[in-house]
Order: sequence, then structure tokens, then C-alpha cells
Amino acid sequence: MSTRVEEFARALPAETTASVRSASILKTDSRITALGVSFGDVEGARSHAAAIKEFVLANLGRLLIELEANCKKNGIHVHWARDASEANELILGLCKRALGDSKVIVKAKSMVTEEIHLNSFLEAQGYAPVETDLGEFVVQIDGDTPSHIVTPIIHKNRRQIAESFAREKIGPYTEVPEELALQAREHLRSQFAAASIGISGVNFACASTGRLVLVENEGNNRLSTTVPDVHIAVMGIEKVVPDEACLSLFLPLLAGSATGQKLTSYVHLIKGPRGGDESDGPREVHLVLLDNNRTKVLNGHYRDVLKCIRCGACLNVCPVYRQGSGHAYGHVYSGPIGAVLAPAMEGVEKLGDLAKASTLCGSCEEVCPVKIPLPHMLLQLRDEAFRAGVNRDGIPWSGFVGVATRSGIWRAGLTLLPMASSLPHPLKTKWREFRQLPQREGRNFRRHR
Ligand code: SF4
Repeated sequence: MSTRVEEFARALPAETTASVRSASILKTDSRITALGVSFGDVEGARSHAAAIKEFVLANLGRLLIELEANCKKNGIHVHWARDASEANELILGLCKRALGDSKVIVKAKSMVTEEIHLNSFLEAQGYAPVETDLGEFVVQIDGDTPSHIVTPIIHKNRRQIAESFAREKIGPYTEVPEELALQAREHLRSQFAAASIGISGVNFACASTGRLVLVENEGNNRLSTTVPDVHIAVMGIEKVVPDEACLSLFLPLLAGSATGQKLTSYVHLIKGPRGGDESDGPREVHLVLLDNNRTKVLNGHYRDVLKCIRCGACLNVCPVYRQGSGHAYGHVYSGPIGAVLAPAMEGVEKLGDLAKASTLCGSCEEVCPVKIPLPHMLLQLRDEAFRAGVNRDGIPWSGFVGVATRSGIWRAGLTLLPMASSLPHPLKTKWREFRQLPQREGRNFRRHR
């Protein structure tokens, strides 16, 4: 087990573990029902989605150029950002130009803006980005970070949210979910009216039409992308898909895997700024295409993680995630996908220990809508991390190989092992804390065959 995840999980209050566990189990169960309703052949749908994503990765450069050209035809300004700092500076430039004296920016939920730490960057420049997704709003007023890529406050219960709202004077104390949602809605309405810029992520971008696809359940994305004069959409380059026909597969697959819905309540297809005869919609739409080490990942062992559609199903089903929550991973991307994506993007030396935050039970691969072989990659990462000098707190397997491939040493070991198992063990490792070495029973096979 990764030390950081293990230590975090041990210190977690019981009510946090209970919140994460119950919500994860609920979503895992509803996923099975929803996908069964949407697809006669769920396995076939997953294989088809994986094949489309493979096509995207094999043709990523061409598809992005096609997307850029069609976005521009639609009136969308396209920007390329090599890394987080370039993306943040670019967005800051757009804010300076568009906002004038107003400092309010409304934001729809977006993991890629979490990845580049956009909020703290804009706040340091004197701007006031306001999260408008209910979960992200709670995270923001609590000075917290999201604990799940789909449900950011999976680690909180009703009482904790009610206390945060009362503390911030969002409304009178109540633990009724509908009343809390109403309070947030009333509080955020004025922010939408005051903002000149709305920032969102992108779930899919269709290369053949240049339309941006956003999915959500609360309606705040629609307000963030249509009320302000300027809409800035930030997208990881792997989110491009060839055409809109793909959406009939990806939309129900994403909704079913993420929240157990047949479809999300809202699906937005954004073509560009408002037309001359239209009375609403933004006057400018900008698309920021972010690399941030994705091309490095594309050319490495872990390229399949770029197929991820951020549904969160692998988090919900993972026993380690359920025990530790997303915060245990110490990275914006958590769970099995985070344990591969984070070190793949930022380096095995820095984050390679996350590969140990897995029981290798295989559940993550079983539920992944695009069939990413996460357990295989976790194993490969463990090996790579070990070779890089990370995760060296266990017994090195090279030692076992050295013994098992030398018959003389192996035979001596077989003779001595029964005695060793009855002696007190100086090598008291973490592994041994929870396990007993088996006592030898019966005859020695080599001697008596
Ligand atoms: S790896 Fe698969 S299951 Fe996990 S978030 Fe990505 S698409 Fe969903």
C-alpha cells in the first residue's frame, strides 16, 4: 500500500469514510442498472467506445487540427497551451481584456481547471472566480479540494454541508437537501448576473463540426456559458472525438458509468458565440487546448489512460478509494485512474508510490467504460517506481529471483525455512503485520518424490 494513502486512510474520521463508502456503493449499483437499460450489449458498447478512443489516440494530431479549423469556422477562438502556466497566463490575459473593473468570474465544474490550479492563480491576481456547481461551491467556501472527479463532496455529509452554509450565511441552518440547493441557487444567481466571464471544461469536442459538448445535472453550466459575455472553455487535448455520431455511444456510457443515469439532465452542444439575430449567448467563445504532459503520456507506456472519459466509476468500485477518499492520493486525480495518470503525467520519481494504492483486485478495469487496463498499468508502474528508487519499503523481488533460480540455494532454503517460520522474525515488514507465514505441513516434495 502507498504509505501516504495508508496513513491518510488510518487518520480519516469514521463519518468521512462512511460518506465515501455509502455514496460509492450506491453509484456502483445504479451504474449496473443504467447501463443495462441503455445498452442491450454493455460489453459491446464498452469495446466500441475503447476502439473509438484508440482511433482518437492514433490520430490525435490530425483530429485536433480538424477541430481547430472547424471551431474557427464557427467563430470560436482557439488557443494552445503547453502547460498549466501557459494556460493560466492565457486565461488571465482574456480576463484582463474582458472584465474591466468587474472581478467576478463564474465557473462550471471542471477537473482540468483544478489540474492547472486556475482558481488560486486568478485569486492571486485579484479576481474572484465563483464555483457554481453545488459540490464545487461547497468545496470553495470550505477552502477544501474535490475528493472525487464527478462528485467533489463525496466525503461530506448533509450536516457538514448545512454547517458550512450557516457559517457563510448562505441561509438559515437546514439539513434538507432541497432547501440547501435552493439557498445555493439564490446565492449564485446574483453572481451569474455580475460576471462577464464564464469558464467551463469540455466533456467532448467534435472534430468534424467544431462543437463543444458539456454535460451536467444542475443547469449551472448553461448559465456559466450563456449569461456572461465571454465563455472560456478549457479542455485536455485527449477530449476530442471524431464526430457527433460518437455521442450516441459516449453520452449514455458516461452518464451511466458516472451517476447511474440514462443521460445527464442537460447536454450542451456549443457551436460558438451568439449570432447577429440572437438575443442571448456569449459574444465571444474561447477554447483553450491544454497539453500539460499529455503528449508525453501519449508516447509512453501509459498512453491508454488518455482514453479516460472521467466517469469516476473506477473510483467508486475501488476498495482503497472507499477506505481513503480522494484526498488520500494528494493529487487532483485520485482512485485507480489517478494512481496511474498522476505519475504518468508528473513523473514516477515524484508520484510513483501511488501505484501501490491498489489491491489489484481488477474491479477498476471491469467497470471502465473504455476498458483501460488499469491493474496492468499499476503493476508496470510499481516496477518502474521500484527501479527508480521509489517504493523500496518491501522485499525486493530480485532477491527472490536470485534464490529461486539457483538450485543449491533453493534446496538449502527449503531445509532451513521450516525452522525460520518458528523463530521470532527480525524482518517485521508492513506486509507481515497482517499476515502469518504458513507452517510447513507434510513431506518435502523434492526429497520424497
Ligand atoms: S479510467 Fe475508466 S472508469 Fe476510471 S474514470 Fe476513466 S473512464 Fe471512468
